[in-house]
Amino acid sequence: MAANLQAVAQAIPTVKLFIDGQFVESKTTEWKDVVNPATQQVLARVPFATADELERAIAAAEKAYRHWRTTPVGARKRVMLKFQEVVRRDMKKLAACLTAEQGKTLADAEGDVFRGLEVVEHACSVGSLQMGEHLEQVAGGVDVYAIRQPIGVCAGITPFNFPAMIPLWMFPMAIVSGNTFVLKPSEQDPMTPMLLAELALEAGVPPGVLNIVHGGKLAVDTLCTHPVIQAVSFVGSTAVGHHVYNLASTHGKRAQCMMGAKNHAVVLPDASKDHSLNALVGAGFGAAGQRCMAISVGVLVGEAQRWIPDIVEKAKSLKVSAGTEPGADLGPLISKNALARVTSLIEAGVKEGAKLELDGRGLRVPGYPDGNFVGPTVFSGVKPGMHIYKEEIFGPVLCLVGVDTLDEAIAFVNANPFGNGTGIFTQSGAAARKFQYEVDAGQVGINVPIPVPVPYFSFTGSRGSKLGDLGPYGKQAVQFYTQVKTVTARWFDDAATAGRVHTTISLK
Ligand code: NAD
Repeated sequence: MAANLQAVAQAIPTVKLFIDGQFVESKTTEWKDVVNPATQQVLARVPFATADELERAIAAAEKAYRHWRTTPVGARKRVMLKFQEVVRRDMKKLAACLTAEQGKTLADAEGDVFRGLEVVEHACSVGSLQMGEHLEQVAGGVDVYAIRQPIGVCAGITPFNFPAMIPLWMFPMAIVSGNTFVLKPSEQDPMTPMLLAELALEAGVPPGVLNIVHGGKLAVDTLCTHPVIQAVSFVGSTAVGHHVYNLASTHGKRAQCMMGAKNHAVVLPDASKDHSLNALVGAGFGAAGQRCMAISVGVLVGEAQRWIPDIVEKAKSLKVSAGTEPGADLGPLISKNALARVTSLIEAGVKEGAKLELDGRGLRVPGYPDGNFVGPTVFSGVKPGMHIYKEEIFGPVLCLVGVDTLDEAIAFVNANPFGNGTGIFTQSGAAARKFQYEVDAGQVGINVPIPVPVPYFSFTGSRGSKLGDLGPYGKQAVQFYTQVKTVTARWFDDAATAGRVHTTISLK
């Protein structure tokens, strides 16, 4: 019996570590199954890298930095151009892997890859993005210029919900600006990041410039404390984000942490009804609510409160199934733990007195009896003290709140500690302008439900959703991954003008 189990375990592929340009088998004794959340099929086993393996990955990145730093900007850019070409070429393959291990629909998985690919495209503009500044003649014969230099070995720690996009938020910008990188993807869906590593190698990313390690707390804590690592970019839950930020910053590193959220959409009664409710329902339940920018609270203003039955009808019309099924609108939750957590929060909502307008618990999906499914769930009459309002549910649960005025709606949104994103649905420019100006969230949509900025800008979640001042992609990522060095220069061509010794700090 024991021999049989061992044979089965050996037949399941293992996820490799990616160190110094090589895919290597871990020597660890700690492994975790990577499970298809729609079927429970074990797709692979992921290692929790040993301390020695983590050290080797960091050492490889340190060694590679010496050469990569000196590689001309144009050469770095051409590697990135090739990388975007091969990621685009393999979009369907990446999406299929992503759906198998994460559960989202194939269309949404392609979106996951595509939003990451946009960052790669933007990284190809490194020549202008990393350009410094120069001011001539700040004093007699004196010029000042500022150079953006890479900072060294950087690390990224990523969550399960976007296994392509979020790694691509990080390492392309880091390496194209001359740094080397160690990525620690989520142990729940590490296979898609490994496909990205294969493509990076094919594109010509030199050995050691990108390394991938797997694991949990040991790996994360090592990256946050290791003296070689200069910067840590984290995306994940609020609890782990605080831990990472404190650990990395007390060890002298730059740190940025994008964390949990509770995103509100304010719906005014003058909104274009069908467009707005479609957007609200799509953003509430897409990806089974497992997006940090999902709309989890609808704030219905005045007469818009009459639209609750329409919202429920639209939610009911969504097809829940495996992400590979044609026509599926949302897939399963990532794990049995997530299923239990979301189910217990729905129970808490009922106990605490919210009105359960639509109950997605206990959903049976034909052909997928073992999937981690919860159907769209809608609560109305939700109050701030309730657990379903206080906690990030990260499941397909939409909480509806009624208020009388736009001022009340803005006050309601601003009283929530999270500040990732918010949206307003209205046909009034004045109302939208007031909302945009007064609301205290980092990303605002006007008749746009999930306002994740394109990479010419940066991801700008704020307040309780973020620690650190710079975002993970776009212009802010260039700032995060580079150090500005200013040079003040004077060239003498005439010994006779030397004059006498100056002891003041002013430049003459
Ligand atoms: P998570 O915090 O559980 O995991 C994130 C990373 O931290 C993973 O790589 C994981 O291995 C590691 N980790 C987990 N527990 C740890 C511990 N105790 N010590 C050290 N490291 C640990 O997050 P998740 O469940 O994978 O992702 C969902 C969360 O991510 C949600 O809260 C969501 O809002 C957030 N998220 C935020 C953004 C954003 O941009 N603000 C984007 C995507 C996801």
